[in-house]
Amino acid sequence: MNGSTRRTFLKDAGVGLAALSIGSSALQAGVMPGRPANGNSETEGRLANVMAIAAHPGDAFFAMGAPVALATHQGGKGSLLSLSLGESGSSTIPPEQYGEEQREAARKAATSIGAEALFLAYPDGEIPVNDEAKFAVCDFIRRYKPEVIVTHWRGSWHKDHQACYDIVQDAIFYAALPAIARKHPPHSVATLYFDDNWEDAAGFVPDTYLDITPVFEHWMDACAMFPMWRGETGFRYNDFYASMAVARGCVSNFNKAVALMSSPEQRVRHVRSL
Ligand SMILES: [Zn+2]
Repeated sequence: MNGSTRRTFLKDAGVGLAALSIGSSALQAGVMPGRPANGNSETEGRLANVMAIAAHPGDAFFAMGAPVALATHQGGKGSLLSLSLGESGSSTIPPEQYGEEQREAARKAATSIGAEALFLAYPDGEIPVNDEAKFAVCDFIRRYKPEVIVTHWRGSWHKDHQACYDIVQDAIFYAALPAIARKHPPHSVATLYFDDNWEDAAGFVPDTYLDITPVFEHWMDACAMFPMWRGETGFRYNDFYASMAVARGCVSNFNKAVALMSSPEQRVRHVRSL
């Protein structure tokens, strides 16, 4: 099967091949047959503003960083919010010290991809699912005004990742609600995606493939600023995420790609005929 034939096959199979394009408001997944275009007329013509929201800095950069890097590469904006510093991730470095190393790595990595690192320092392993956390994330959403959010899928064996999923769902709702008065005005997030994270694989079914070829090396370099990237804490993140970019690229006919899963609610269609 040659490239164009395979692309046609993938389209026919209902697989979205996404691109973050200049002049677009959001991650465009408009090639998915029958799916309404993302974004809205209010944000037409603006560059993409993508926010990653993760339980730990490693997740934000390794599993969600490529779409953020692509947004800034294409002239948009990017931010990466970590709900915890992931300070308990090392078996040899005390949590307080390791947390600061993670914070510093996240700042440097974010700067290197033209994005901003944001933090809510909830205890690693104990991220609470409560209104305080949801409003704290809501405030970041209202302040940074992302059109696209990438976060954890709920099918995770890690309780912090499950917590992040729950927090983000309600934070997006709170952020958009005019009746909720906060420091910043309401903001509606146009599109929510879930990341392809090795810890969140239960029920993860990608429907969008994003071409990250232009930023792949750059993104890899940013990830390498984290002490844990090369397997120091027991998992070979570098090998996993680099090879996944190749594998996802193979099935989407891009050189390198990341797979994303759109929010089930956003797949709802309002039609008068099929
Ligand atoms: Zn994590």
